[in-house]
Amino acid sequence: MSSESINRAMASLQAGQRGHDPAHAVPFAEFLDLLRAHPERLIRNVHQVFHDMVRAYVGEGFDEYPEDPESINFIAWDFRRLLVENTDQPFFADRIFANRLMNMIEAFRGGAQQNKVFMFDGPPGCGKSIFLNNLLRRFEEYAASEAGQRYEVVWRLDRQALGDPVDTDVQPVMERLSALLENLGDGHGLRDDADDTHRPGARQSFVEVPCPSHDNPILMVPKEQRPAFMDALFENDEFKWNLSYNKEYDWVFRDTPCTICTSIYQALLHKLGDPARVLGMLHARPYQMDRRLGEGVSVFNPGDRAARTPVVTNPLLQRRISSLLQDSNQVRYLFSRYARTNNGIYALMDLKGHNRDRLFELHNIISDGVHKVDDIEERVNSLFLGVMNPEDNKNIHGFQSLTDRIEFINISYVLDSATEVEIYKNIFGKHIEESFLPRVLENFARIIISSRLNEKSPAMLDWIGDPRKYRLYCDESLHLLKMSIYTGVIPSWLDDDDRRAFNAKRRRKIIAEAENEGHTGFSGRDAIDIFHDLYSTHAREGQLITMDTLCAWFVKTRPELARQLPDGFLDSLRRMYNYQILQEVKESLYYYNEEQIARDLMNYMFALNYETGTTAVCSFTGEKLEITGAFLTGIEDRLLGAGVREGRRKDFRDATQREYTSRTLTQEIMVEGRDIRDTQLFADLHKRYVFHLKEKVLEPFVKNANFRRALKDYGGEDFRTYDKRIRADVTFLLANLSDRFGYTEAGAREMCMYVLDNDIASEFAD
Ligand SMILES: [Zn+2]
Repeated sequence: MSSESINRAMASLQAGQRGHDPAHAVPFAEFLDLLRAHPERLIRNVHQVFHDMVRAYVGEGFDEYPEDPESINFIAWDFRRLLVENTDQPFFADRIFANRLMNMIEAFRGGAQQNKVFMFDGPPGCGKSIFLNNLLRRFEEYAASEAGQRYEVVWRLDRQALGDPVDTDVQPVMERLSALLENLGDGHGLRDDADDTHRPGARQSFVEVPCPSHDNPILMVPKEQRPAFMDALFENDEFKWNLSYNKEYDWVFRDTPCTICTSIYQALLHKLGDPARVLGMLHARPYQMDRRLGEGVSVFNPGDRAARTPVVTNPLLQRRISSLLQDSNQVRYLFSRYARTNNGIYALMDLKGHNRDRLFELHNIISDGVHKVDDIEERVNSLFLGVMNPEDNKNIHGFQSLTDRIEFINISYVLDSATEVEIYKNIFGKHIEESFLPRVLENFARIIISSRLNEKSPAMLDWIGDPRKYRLYCDESLHLLKMSIYTGVIPSWLDDDDRRAFNAKRRRKIIAEAENEGHTGFSGRDAIDIFHDLYSTHAREGQLITMDTLCAWFVKTRPELARQLPDGFLDSLRRMYNYQILQEVKESLYYYNEEQIARDLMNYMFALNYETGTTAVCSFTGEKLEITGAFLTGIEDRLLGAGVREGRRKDFRDATQREYTSRTLTQEIMVEGRDIRDTQLFADLHKRYVFHLKEKVLEPFVKNANFRRALKDYGGEDFRTYDKRIRADVTFLLANLSDRFGYTEAGAREMCMYVLDNDIASEFAD
């Protein structure tokens, strides 16, 4: 091949590359324009970028109890975009871990989190490697997006300005070929092609020298001049104030560029004599990360050997720099592997094998902030992450100064049932839910989680005192209550005293107990195997997995699993389930007719102002009322309950009438102009009415044998033979169960039969 055809071939390659080169470099002056336009984005160290990345994917959290004065901000974060969507393997963070991670991230913004290794410590099978991989993938993705963009230093040493005019000699082919291959390879080698005037056979007007440490270009402004420089660059706006006074920006005034950039700057200044001309050769290009190349993000496995040469050089580039600056060795283009992840992430997967040595090396770097490369000091500011097994602790145990530098973040088996169910659905498909009666799948998850909790909970006992008072809804070890709290739900069956006593201090103590839970019991993998076994045995067309199926399976089919659960847990779970479905039946039976309730209440308030035996047209409803004792009693039965003493009835009537004339009518309606439905008295009466209505709602259901038979016959020929009232009640009940609680018709009937046949109502009657 002639050298001319090589030239042509390479020119076409280069042209193809140049068109979509994302690493387009801009002169420093242009970079300053960008900086003025997007200061928050372009002035970030890796901790700040990482913080912003997580917040961008996770968004705002959701607080179920926004008005709660005792809130400890233990809220729901949606981690799907961060760790689930578009991943090879999803990682599901439960609410506890999600809050732990968000607290860690929040501290990143403050800028005080450098000089630390963040080590995620969790048992085998908790998914920690998947977690870290997914997190790093998002980080790369974010860094490549506009929101995550930062710039790094690249020098363009102008040949002409440095007294080495561009000549037209044909560049030695081998040199150009090697330069081209480097460009194609990683984008961070030396670049010769960025000049638009470039054509085959012409030599470039500059030598490009990238900063291997990915320095932010603003660091090239000499440190002592930076405050004045920033002051002149930015208007007196909020950003400038933050930059000057917020700790998170301390690094902007404190950090120095790498030794290569520093020595280039000094050599140029020496040669050119004018800082402005030096900065004229300074360019900025987007910081591109590539984990596979170890650029910006590097992940080490225990089996990865240490690099043969700990020092990276580039003899070709070195020769050019030296000849151009005409001083041997003032600029030494030499750096370590750590430079490549400066301003980026350096991660260790497990603390075994070579990674143990890496951690000890990191420790020295972190302690001093610098390390020696040959006889040059290299600064390293990276985000150091890692995952480890609890057993790896023996590898670092006893090295106090090392463990002082490590922040351990607990990562455990899932402790909240909602997240556990998400995992099954992800693996086996969303349709698995259709094989279970509502609530039963989540109860399976609770059984799995019960094996992961500590047997005793001092914080819970301190709060509740005597757990037996809740024996109808909860186990005596309060595991079910704890799971509920870990899921972010404060159960409605707690009495007022306990609800009040659930203060911020107690909440913190309870959540803190999770630090020591989820390390034993069924692992994530175990749980999936167990679920698969249950599901493949019992999921059948036209047949639902019920609480009976579930409990029998653990007790009879897999008794070795049941033995790993806390004593009596299955019985307690069953009782809680019974309580919950009874509430569902009550809610569904209760005829919620707001219009009727409101009419009764308005008529009642109005009628109290008339003698009994009279007739009047109610000014609120327009109805003509026969005001008799029976009329008032009929409504009072709903307000006071049936069978109330005559004296109490009279007192109630008097008090209500007094309230009506002294406040409701004269104050609220006439003076304040409120609608009667917005008055205090209306609200009080409404509450009473609904309360008593619900109390009695089960009566026709449990005491009527016809009702049970009608349920059974629903949908068949015989259903038509029942009286109209029963048919309406059954239809209404089943429709409500399906609308409000997600039952299928068959599921709703099965659940109702279970409630009747086991006499669940009397179990909870007081
Ligand atoms: Zn540098």
